[in-house]
Amino acid sequence: MLKRAIVSLIALTTLISAQEVAIVGGGIAGLTAAYRLQQEGVDAHVYEAKGRVGGRILTAHVDGRIGELGAQNISDGGDAENLLKLLDELNLEVSESFIHLHRKYVGSDRPIDQDELLKEIPQENLEERLESLAQNATNMRDVLLALTEEEGELYRFLNVRLACYEGDSAENLSPIYTTTLYHMLHGGLCSAHPGDETTICVRSVKNGNSTLTEKLAEALGPKVHLNTPLASLAKEPEGGYLLTFRNGETVRAGQVILAIPASVYNDISFGDAIPRETLDSIQNIRYGTNAKILVPAATPHRITFVNDWMIGFFTPKCDILTCYYTQNYSRFTPETIDQNSDRDFPMIERTLNVQLSKPEFALDHPFVSYLGPVGYSWPIDPYAKGSYSYIAPGQESILLSLEKQGQETVRTLFAPIDSSLFFAGEHTSILLDVPGTMEAACESGERAARMVIEARRTHRTPS
Ligand SMILES: Cc1cc2nc3c(=O)[nH]c(=O)nc-3n(C[C@H](O)[C@H](O)[C@H](O)COP(=O)(O)OP(=O)(O)OC[C@H]3O[C@@H](n4cnc5c(N)ncnc54)[C@H](O)[C@@H]3O)c2cc1C
Repeated sequence: MLKRAIVSLIALTTLISAQEVAIVGGGIAGLTAAYRLQQEGVDAHVYEAKGRVGGRILTAHVDGRIGELGAQNISDGGDAENLLKLLDELNLEVSESFIHLHRKYVGSDRPIDQDELLKEIPQENLEERLESLAQNATNMRDVLLALTEEEGELYRFLNVRLACYEGDSAENLSPIYTTTLYHMLHGGLCSAHPGDETTICVRSVKNGNSTLTEKLAEALGPKVHLNTPLASLAKEPEGGYLLTFRNGETVRAGQVILAIPASVYNDISFGDAIPRETLDSIQNIRYGTNAKILVPAATPHRITFVNDWMIGFFTPKCDILTCYYTQNYSRFTPETIDQNSDRDFPMIERTLNVQLSKPEFALDHPFVSYLGPVGYSWPIDPYAKGSYSYIAPGQESILLSLEKQGQETVRTLFAPIDSSLFFAGEHTSILLDVPGTMEAACESGERAARMVIEARRTHRTPS
């Protein structure tokens, strides 16, 4: 019986090969790491669960225009030094434009201008007042209630704006997001967009952000393995790791970079490769509830709608209305996406005097053309399980703690293990001012590659 089980196990598992470095996850973080390692002559392979690379970057063609169903704005990463350098090296151009923000809250009987809502909050000593509120608050809900006194229109307006930018409703957000709130109350958006209230600079890769991840994959060629979700990672007695994929294939690697979102760690068995306490903390990282429906717009509008579950804004050159959903409203499926349009499109049609067709649920492939509105839900995507990581109340010290590892600074939670297991992905970035961005992911990939190279230089690594 045991013999038969062993025979069938061998039949199921095909040993592909032994490699120097295995990178799990083909988003911008994993691809950047692989690209840098390849440049240094290291044999690095990327294992990606889906049939495409790019992860939370997904460009679509919407009625002939470029639409981003995932990450759109490079400037959310501040000066985005790492990303812009990479784009430059790959000869990819950046297109720049502006979102005009004339925000109206449309969640009550009559549309209310942002200015009218915000005038309730005195601007005097605002920064100091917010800081002191944050010190006594458990979450952002406490901070908002101290400012607005009730869950009225102003509270709901600010709650959905926080949920859209930071990922979740105020009660689930740590009081550290008071900094974002401060910028929002000043008319800006966050520390990366502190500007005035009328415009936000949007920078994207010309022809779509997926152009970047596709180009990196092209440079890596056969070293990118699609449709290979990792099932388990085990430490080998002689050093190195055994990776087993859901299709039964296995690979041995001297060093591993995990460049997958923390939200999917629960689906992978790590044995003793990651200490229990570290794994628990990683698995507890929370992910935002954000999704988009992109609506091609015939005429430009400069209005931004805010209701209690969605912000609608016109993206560069005002040719697409992005409906940015939060909380449970973002968990739509191909079968239920109509509920979002049935609920929200009449308001848009009335306000813009247009007629909209029903949205499609996007295919999980870049550069697919859609004739009309199209949406994608990241919280229901099995390999993202959310939009971007955020810090929940009580997680501040574990997620914000940094430490030195040789020449590099790392997040303590994501310090390399045994000089052979490394972490990358936006959630591991040390750019604490621009969390959850493409720049944060890119920074983490660059750093992981440097650390792998340094470890190879100073330790004997099995390969
Ligand atoms: C709606 C939305 C809007 C956004 N807007 C912006 C924006 O405007 N500006 C900005 O800078 N950022 C934005 N972001 C955030 C940005 O998309 C991410 O921070 C960044 O793309 C994350 O890259 P990553 O490589 O860390 O992770 P990912 O892109 O998630 O890549 C991880 C990869 O791992 C793969 N994977 C998962 N599980 C497994 C497994 N078991 N085995 C193998 N592979 C696996 C996934 O399929 C994925 O390809 C947005 C995100 C969303 C969802």
